[in-house]
Amino acid sequence: MKELPKDYALRTIGDGGKRIWMYPERPKGRFMRWRTLAHAVLLSLLLVLPWIDVGGHPGIHIDIPGRRIHFLGLTLFATDGSYLLFLFGFIVFSVFLFTALFGRAWCGWACPQTVFMETVIRPIERLVEGTPTQRRKLDKGPWNANKIVRKGIKLLLLLVISGALGTTFTAYFLGRDGVLEAQLHPSAHPAGTFTFLFLTAITFFDFAWFREQTCLVVCPYGRFQSVLLDANSLLVAYDEPRGEPRGKKTDPNAGDCVDCKRCLTVCPTGIDIRRGTQLECVQCMACIDACDDIMGKLGRKPGLIRFSTENAIAGEPTKIVRPRVVVYALGLVGVLVAFAVTLSHREPVELRLTRQPGVPYMSLPDGRVQNPMRLRIANKGTEARSFEVDVVSPPDLELVAPTPFVVGPDKVEHMPVFVLRQPWDGGPRTDFTLRIHDDKGFTKDVEGELMQGAGK
Ligand code: SF4
Ligand code: SF4
Repeated sequence: MKELPKDYALRTIGDGGKRIWMYPERPKGRFMRWRTLAHAVLLSLLLVLPWIDVGGHPGIHIDIPGRRIHFLGLTLFATDGSYLLFLFGFIVFSVFLFTALFGRAWCGWACPQTVFMETVIRPIERLVEGTPTQRRKLDKGPWNANKIVRKGIKLLLLLVISGALGTTFTAYFLGRDGVLEAQLHPSAHPAGTFTFLFLTAITFFDFAWFREQTCLVVCPYGRFQSVLLDANSLLVAYDEPRGEPRGKKTDPNAGDCVDCKRCLTVCPTGIDIRRGTQLECVQCMACIDACDDIMGKLGRKPGLIRFSTENAIAGEPTKIVRPRVVVYALGLVGVLVAFAVTLSHREPVELRLTRQPGVPYMSLPDGRVQNPMRLRIANKGTEARSFEVDVVSPPDLELVAPTPFVVGPDKVEHMPVFVLRQPWDGGPRTDFTLRIHDDKGFTKDVEGELMQGAGK
């Protein structure tokens, strides 16, 4: 990769750490059209999923008190922890593979930070405060009535949007009914109210002030992308051999770059892509559209800045299939296959027999020994199930249980089970087996341990 100059520094941080505001212009072009479409789809999904039903539950609901997650019709319980490992593996291998192939395209095209900033916040800003040039002038100008009114309206709109997003983000955790209930009765739902206020506050802080600093100084992804990229990765790249030396259109010795700086004025992170690949580039591709527009006006072919590889720019062949890509792809396929296999073997009901808290056993007046147990039943299916319990062994075991015991879909219930037996020979403990079955054809044996005093 091309080395950056020694004086290289973040464009958004000035002397003494002073914030330098960005006023990116919005170019017209094919990448901006595709990106707007991608952002609209992602934004719709993000805003809609916690509010709509998929398979009888919200599209996505991370139900912390209920210790389960509803994800597009699939309900995962706390005991399905292995699925979190698959999710982790999926994210890691996807990020590695995607970055090795397409660089930091996630940042510019799919990251919620960019999606909101480019598709919601900047258009509002443009509507209230005008073009980037007008905004810069407004910011530099005195605090007169015009500035106070415009800034006030903008901040109010950002606060309303942050509140709407805070509500939706909270709905991911409380469910749609929970979040509305918490908003109607805030004092009765302190946790929900705090979550809503906290998410609204950080969203507002991000939109109103922090902005691209999130990508430049907070997000860890930008930091480690350099180790995932190589000369065969697709990047937004400036064709230096073609563009340099920069000069006027009329200069016969100049390259194709006329140094109009249009690529700089559209960059949301304020970088000059002509200096090479930089950590701050979120691959939004605005500079490609901007430069293509200039090339078109000059009657030159587009692509002075383009989505390409360093090898291609240098005239070398690009290798898409290379060892790191193969390793990441195999890892990703492995995770997906393991997930599919585990999912296909997932039992519709999960059972766990434990001892009830308190006295582990007691002797009844008729001489029998009673052990109070508790059967945890997690119904992972979409229909209610009616459970019965039978004795498998030993044959003289007796049971008292409130059967049939109905457990609703995606519910976890605890059935009290009292196990009784005449005192037995052979020590204070002995094993027993119960058979649990339901009206949907599910059957499973569970084992437990029976206790009596010191034994006969
Ligand atoms: S937009 Fe194109 S021509 Fe203008 S400065 Fe950037 S690279 Fe050069
Ligand atoms: S250099 Fe180009 S692609 Fe990278 S962030 Fe700036 S405008 Fe977007």
